[in-house]
Amino acid sequence: MPKRGIPKRIVEDMNLLDIRKLKLVGTLGGGPFLSTTRRDGRIVSLVRYSVSPDRSVLTILDGKLQPRQTIKMAWVPCHLGGERPFIFCPACGHRGELLYSDGGPFACRRCHDLSYESRNLSDAWRLLRQSQKIQKKLGWHGLEGGRPRWMHEATFERLVERHRDYDWRAVLAMARALGI
Ligand SMILES: [Zn+2]
Repeated sequence: MPKRGIPKRIVEDMNLLDIRKLKLVGTLGGGPFLSTTRRDGRIVSLVRYSVSPDRSVLTILDGKLQPRQTIKMAWVPCHLGGERPFIFCPACGHRGELLYSDGGPFACRRCHDLSYESRNLSDAWRLLRQSQKIQKKLGWHGLEGGRPRWMHEATFERLVERHRDYDWRAVLAMARALGI
């Protein structure tokens, strides 16, 4: 739990363990590794692990191959055949595909008290609010409209230009937040 006054951490600052990648990672130095990544896909560490014979427990190992954390697993059949692995948060039991770590134990987003709002998403909201402020100045009720009679042509054009700029930047930030 973060202390009061300390800004909330966001998902993008954490190392991510994505169980969907389990099958993709081969062996390295005599044992299987799972990579942890940042949200943008950048690999930040390789975690050595083992899976119990019945595949119900994933054990994260430390550098000396000692168990560091055990994570329960479940396998769910896919429509098109095969199975999909899921992992349970060691702290609360929530079932999902992603766990997060800041270098310490893995846990789900809620247990780490991570902000749901990514930096890009909060940027997008901020830019949208700016765009809406200008809309209000223009007396518009949507994304487009005409020049209010009382407004100078030059002021109108400047506001329309700024509105378009904020709106476009908001769209870009939203797209980044969604990973598009
Ligand atoms: Zn949890």
